[in-house]
Amino acid sequence: MVPNLYPAFERQEVVIHAPRHVRSLAELTAAELALVAEAWRLRAAAAARDGFPALHAFVNEGAAAGASLPHSHSQLVWLRELPPAVVAEQEAAAGCRLCALLAAERGAGDRVVVERDGLVALCPAAGRVPYEILVAPAVHGGGGFGPALDGALALAADLVRALQAAEGHVAWNLWLHSGDHWHVEILPRLATFGGVELGAGIYVLAVAPEDAAAALRERLP
Ligand SMILES: [Zn+2]
Ligand SMILES: [Zn+2]
Repeated sequence: MVPNLYPAFERQEVVIHAPRHVRSLAELTAAELALVAEAWRLRAAAAARDGFPALHAFVNEGAAAGASLPHSHSQLVWLRELPPAVVAEQEAAAGCRLCALLAAERGAGDRVVVERDGLVALCPAAGRVPYEILVAPAVHGGGGFGPALDGALALAADLVRALQAAEGHVAWNLWLHSGDHWHVEILPRLATFGGVELGAGIYVLAVAPEDAAAALRERLP
């Protein structure tokens, strides 16, 4: 754990994913991924003790995704309250928006990539980029830094391996949203946003989420 060289927040930390040189999360072993989950968990507890109950954990991989180091790493931003993106998700509807989304997607089925260890991975119908992936526990639960994080990061690494098999070494961002119904989101940088996306909030997908889910499903290790 090292402090970030260019801190934009009160507290920001970098988690180096392995002492050996690894360029991608996809190169980490199961044991190394479990250590990443444990590091996030320990720092979330430390942040909470210091008055930062909301830890924003994320991975930028590839220059186009904002990564400034070629060595696989994640970043932890200590926040005093939930970030606006999580608040917006939680305020979007009565009841749990994610539970409703999971019920609809598991009912439809064709955008679900895999269900494993109580987690569902899917390419949401209303994604912003091709191959956007959501990983969420099938059962409603808050937090995100609990024991299930190990499985979520292991599954995320498998999904990145499948993404690389399908599309090559694209840049992507991953983050953990540890709100009312925690989840991990993976956004491959396979689209550039212009006036339609940023101005109108309309995202036209070059790959249908059903096709992306099928491509990932076929290539999962
Ligand atoms: Zn829920
Ligand atoms: Zn989210």
